[in-house]
Amino acid sequence: MAQIPQEPADLFPSLEEAQIARLAVFGEARTVQKGEIVFDLGSADHGVFVVLEGSLEVIGVSNGVESVLSIVGRGAFTGDVSQLSGRRSLVRCRAHEASSLIEISRANLRRILQTDAAIGEVFLRVFLLRRLFLISHHVGDALLIGSSHSADTLRLRGFLSRNGHPHTYVDVERDPDVQAILDQFDIRATDIPVVICRGTLVLRNPSNAAAAECFGLNAGIDEAAVYDLIVVGAGPSGLAAAVYGASEGLNVLVVESSSPGGQAGSSSRIENYLGFPNGISGQELAGRAFIQAEKFGAQIAVARSARALKCARSPFTVELDDGASVQGRSVIVAAGAQYRKLPLSNLGQFEGAGVYYGATPVEAQLCANDEVAVVGGGNSAGQAAMFLSAHAKHVHLLVRGPGLAETMSRYLISRIEACPDITLRPFTEVEALEGNGHLERVRWRQSQTGAADTHEIQHLFLMTGACPNTSWLEKCVELDQKEFIKTGVELGPGWPLRRAPYLLETSVPGVFAVGDVRAGSIKRVASAVGEGSMAVQFVHQVLAE
Ligand SMILES: Cc1cc2nc3c(=O)[nH]c(=O)nc-3n(C[C@H](O)[C@H](O)[C@H](O)COP(=O)(O)OP(=O)(O)OC[C@H]3O[C@@H](n4cnc5c(N)ncnc54)[C@H](O)[C@@H]3O)c2cc1C
Repeated sequence: MAQIPQEPADLFPSLEEAQIARLAVFGEARTVQKGEIVFDLGSADHGVFVVLEGSLEVIGVSNGVESVLSIVGRGAFTGDVSQLSGRRSLVRCRAHEASSLIEISRANLRRILQTDAAIGEVFLRVFLLRRLFLISHHVGDALLIGSSHSADTLRLRGFLSRNGHPHTYVDVERDPDVQAILDQFDIRATDIPVVICRGTLVLRNPSNAAAAECFGLNAGIDEAAVYDLIVVGAGPSGLAAAVYGASEGLNVLVVESSSPGGQAGSSSRIENYLGFPNGISGQELAGRAFIQAEKFGAQIAVARSARALKCARSPFTVELDDGASVQGRSVIVAAGAQYRKLPLSNLGQFEGAGVYYGATPVEAQLCANDEVAVVGGGNSAGQAAMFLSAHAKHVHLLVRGPGLAETMSRYLISRIEACPDITLRPFTEVEALEGNGHLERVRWRQSQTGAADTHEIQHLFLMTGACPNTSWLEKCVELDQKEFIKTGVELGPGWPLRRAPYLLETSVPGVFAVGDVRAGSIKRVASAVGEGSMAVQFVHQVLAE
């Protein structure tokens, strides 16, 4: 990803005169007086402003205290990635002096991004840099008070980070100032994790959906529309379907249970995705795809799960877990898979409190200088072990079989073998977890010798494969024995149309399945992306029938 900018000039470049002239065609002239608020923190109903004369102050507001981030003059423009999605502004903008501006609406901004490559490049680069700046400087409307021993704290931190929503985190265990904040908002220690939303609203251990609602992450989603395409899931396959669908003129809604990125979002470094020779973190890849989808006009609803698919006739209805429903003339199921769990009775008690299913910088921070164990022999386990070895004191890699050769890519095996901070433990299975509130000890057994050992390990990473997310489909489409969705030539008898099913089409014409959720798919980012984009071609054909 781009470097976090240090200079205001990187964040507020001046457009060239010719570019301003091209933009003026799409905008409306506005004048503001000195001190007038051009748009405020939390507002979503304004466009992007280009300064023609005078200057504007861009202001961060934290706990009601203002700090001027920059004063910008002729040729500069406002906005960040929230401008594409219709989310609320994270900064305040005030006229530094009497000024003339052009305001460009969100719809026109999209038009410019799609038609004027040179201006589009400037806007998108700057929007991304600004969001990075806000995240790294904790500028915004979210304060999270939590504890490193709390699973819900980890959940909320992960949710905000993966949605690219800047937030300040205060840890009750480590920060001496926390009591003052708790007192200020009349919060008891038992209420944490607590999210202070927009400086005033206190949410006590909110669900992801409640946090999304408060920060307006789903602002601008039109639930009454009949979409050309509804995509369920915003992992790599769903995001690819959204980018290709929206860029080819389809009216697309993506529904995502959690945050964009899917399983790939929990990968610290993907090294086999074409075009990224140094690797790319799953979150970064997802973040870029998310912006790309929004640039083309796809709407993406987060923290909202599909609960059922009514597939008897088109338009299909996708019922959501909050009781709402949305309609689409075609559906792409891109719901992927979820992590397989170990058969340990008290596992749930430690999930997020010592047991993790992803190794990202958020988890790495928690286990800095501690011993950790990673379970699994696949590429995801290998990546996690390598990534964690740079943060943890030592990594134990537990594998049920004799070694890694059959399950892991050769490049990862070589790195693990060469890394003195990783101990490979073949024929080893976790037998018990112990701890009080947080994982404290892990007992594992070596199946060849029968010897069991208990280790003082507070962080266990489970990377043992995944099961498909298909229970919500209630057998609406045909599944295989392992509950993956059958498509195309794999389908059994009973196909209702005279034409043959398209590649990636399920037993219901017009409903497609892509990525890890599809029976027989290759469980890789590149193939998920490929399938998501291919399915859009067949969606066009179905819509034309
Ligand atoms: C830790 C890890 C590391 C990996 N590393 C690599 C790698 O280096 N290279 C590689 O090629 N592959 C890697 N993989 C595999 C790769 O990530 C997956 O193959 C890929 O993410 C599959 O994409 P997908 O979109 O099909 O599904 P997923 O990534 O599983 O995404 C599915 C999405 O659907 C959402 N969803 C599920 N049910 C619902 C519902 N009912 N309503 C709404 N939303 C729903 C989920 O929340 C999720 O966001 C890794 C996987 C893991 C777990």
